Amino acid sequence: MTAARCPICRKPAEAAFTPFCSQRCADVDLGRWFNERYAIPVEDDEEEEAPEPRRPLLDDA
Ligand SMILES: [Zn+2]
Repeated sequence: MTAARCPICRKPAEAAFTPFCSQRCADVDLGRWFNERYAIPVEDDEEEEAPEPRRPLLDDA
């Protein structure tokens, strides 16, 4: 067996949670993956999420 280490906390990986040392670190990694996925700036024509805050000053009177 190789001395695999948990990519999250660098502790020796546990066989049951390979390649992590615990369920917690596995969850952390999963969370990171999701965060990175959502953090990726996607150039989309659809305006589902507006990065710029709304400006009430631009309200057309
Ligand atoms: Zn860990």
